Amino acid sequence: MSIKFFTLASGSSGNAVYVGSEKSGLLIDAGLTGKDICEKLAQNKVNTENLEGILVTHEHRDHIKGVGVMSRKLDLPVFATEGTWQGMKQSVGKIAEKNQKYLEVDNCLEIGDLKVEVAATSHDAQEPVAFTIHQGELSVGFATDTGQITRGLRKNITGCTALVLEANHDPTMLRRGPYPAYLKKRIASVMGHLSNQMSGEALAEFITGKTEQVTLAHLSEQNNIPSLALETVKQVLQEKGFDELPEIKVAPRYKASKASNLA
Ligand SMILES: [Zn+2]
Ligand SMILES: [Zn+2]
Repeated sequence: MSIKFFTLASGSSGNAVYVGSEKSGLLIDAGLTGKDICEKLAQNKVNTENLEGILVTHEHRDHIKGVGVMSRKLDLPVFATEGTWQGMKQSVGKIAEKNQKYLEVDNCLEIGDLKVEVAATSHDAQEPVAFTIHQGELSVGFATDTGQITRGLRKNITGCTALVLEANHDPTMLRRGPYPAYLKKRIASVMGHLSNQMSGEALAEFITGKTEQVTLAHLSEQNNIPSLALETVKQVLQEKGFDELPEIKVAPRYKASKASNLA
């Protein structure tokens, strides 16, 4: 049994994660160009023939940019809640009817030899969700784009072998930063994103003796710094009495590769 996963990119300019067993692979979000997704999968030696689908968390552009292209190119099923389908239908282009799959919150489904659990998040999208992927005893919980920790997240993510959790902003940097007031308010709200502090507090609940590694994700480029996110999260965990911490790292941001010019 094994699960391999890596973040292709994370942050407000594009998000995508690969997660898979020896046999089955999934993308969680495809918010990069199709070309960049294929390149990054190849760099990480993923055999795209094993891809069994794309799980979509919500319809914001940084999560769906490459969904249509990837589905058409590789004939991949796309799994999303009804609300997310409504929200993204205009932007993803035509997706074959057989590849339009509907998810329900709090449900569980099997894709290849992976088990997928779906939890509601709290975010300003139509019906946003987060996913936990299991294979046998191993599990990876992914949660970004949520302004608070929901009941479903608590249930599905606590005790996962690996966690990918949002640490979006430092509240002081957000307050002093360049964003307009309405956007600052939205980001800091319960329908927005987790701050570094909130991420640390959530991790104090989610990390158990089974947790081997943590990845901080969806860091704001304007309102956060990777070293600050790491430091804050570790400090909160230490204050909460964690002596030994699992490995904690920060997911890479997305830098779009230059478009190739056709003469
Ligand atoms: Zn996002
Ligand atoms: Zn979002």
